[in-house]
Amino acid sequence: MTIRPIRIAGDPVLHHRAQPVSELGPELDDLIGDMVDTMREAPGVGLAAPQIGVGLQVFVWEWEDAEGTRHEGTVLNPSLQKSPLSRGKLDEDDDAEGCLSVPDLRFPTRRSPSVRLRGLTARGEKLDITAEGWLARIFQHEWDHLQGILYIDRLGLRRRRQARSAIAAQGWGTPGLSWQPGVDSYEGSDENAEETQAGGNNAR
Ligand code: ZN
Repeated sequence: MTIRPIRIAGDPVLHHRAQPVSELGPELDDLIGDMVDTMREAPGVGLAAPQIGVGLQVFVWEWEDAEGTRHEGTVLNPSLQKSPLSRGKLDEDDDAEGCLSVPDLRFPTRRSPSVRLRGLTARGEKLDITAEGWLARIFQHEWDHLQGILYIDRLGLRRRRQARSAIAAQGWGTPGLSWQPGVDSYEGSDENAEETQAGGNNAR
């Protein structure tokens, strides 16, 4: 399996709706294997196919909750039923969301506290998961990717402006940019990455 470069905000594949998967098989299995490897190396708790440049409705997740229960899986062609959005003031830490396609930035993002995710597994079996809390957030974030929506598109006006100027300051927001997990020093991907590498222009 291969760790693939992760597309950065501004790349068209991240801003268009992904196509439904129409064929199961080895090609799809390879894609999913690459997605899992890339997610682990990044590291992230979820990854959608458009993030590695593939405009297909597939996402993967792998996350351990506070009780040590591991949640992991793959969904194809998902639908998402959401409870009403959370209310009240967002917490700067507890609601802070990030995205491997907008590396190293975090903004509190309003989400629905619970969701029902339906779709198909990689084997073509029916999948139906009800999730709450952080897992519900992961599902909403990854499902959005398949609609061509980034979490920064969901921010309130003030934070969206902050995010846009942070993105512009990094020189992102244009097509064709990506970073390589394990090589570039984003998202704690490689603590020892050389400053001279592509991640070196990261202003942190
Ligand atoms: Zn993301």
